[in-house]
Amino acid sequence: MVHFVGAGSGAVDLITVRGQCLLQEADQVIYAGSLVNPELLAQTKPDCKILNSASMTLEEVIYAMQETEASGGVTVRLHTGDPSIYGAIREQMDRLDALQIQYDVTPGVSSFCASAAAIPAEFTLPGQSQTVIITRMPGRTPVPEKENMRSLAAHRASMAIFLSTGLLKDLSRELIEGGYPEDTPAAIVYKASWPEQKVLRCTVSNLEETAERNAITKTAMILVGSFLGADYERSLLYDPSFSHMFRKGSDAQ
Ligand code: SAH
Repeated sequence: MVHFVGAGSGAVDLITVRGQCLLQEADQVIYAGSLVNPELLAQTKPDCKILNSASMTLEEVIYAMQETEASGGVTVRLHTGDPSIYGAIREQMDRLDALQIQYDVTPGVSSFCASAAAIPAEFTLPGQSQTVIITRMPGRTPVPEKENMRSLAAHRASMAIFLSTGLLKDLSRELIEGGYPEDTPAAIVYKASWPEQKVLRCTVSNLEETAERNAITKTAMILVGSFLGADYERSLLYDPSFSHMFRKGSDAQ
């Protein structure tokens, strides 16, 4: 059995209860190098085999899972944040299917959620945006042309931009040319939920200089959108006049 587990965004107590139990019972843990908090590994059994996938290929990861499976052991594949976001889990699951090794997935707190918490902010503010776009600038992994940053920016929705800290000049240009006014609020959240977390508020036009001034070159989330500003409408759900299944409002007949 292989359990894919989301380790959460960094803070050791942000793993789920289920994820922590699986980690404590694992015979082997293969963790995603730089972004998984090493303190989590201290919770494993004394004889647990621990591998850092940063220096491994997909083939080596699968082979290690296969070996543990053959000896009747359980592997936890520990991914940063939530495994479904830039986790490269599909290719692992497909190979496990082919080998007839069972697996399941335990979600985790993604860094885009931990970044909103660090601000703290709400992505889906009534009157501003009801949509969150999760994306990245193209790097060694290309982004399909139909999802280029400019076309996504045209929605002026709330955005959480991963894996792009080294490309902030291009990112600003694309966001502005795509449709965000230059003074649209933005934030760079460095290592959300880690002790060294930093939250830098800025605008879409000065992302690069803000990062440079603070010597941030990696492990940051870029948040963009008017949800970071002052304006919004209050929610209907908690409006005294609004009735719903669980509460009779003052508008009820
Ligand atoms: N599966 C992870 C994302 C992995 S991709 C998740 O759900 O969060 C790695 C990228 O995630 C980094 O380049 C950075 O953009 C972002 N990231 C990961 N951890 C972060 C953190 N604690 N704070 C801010 N951004 C983070």
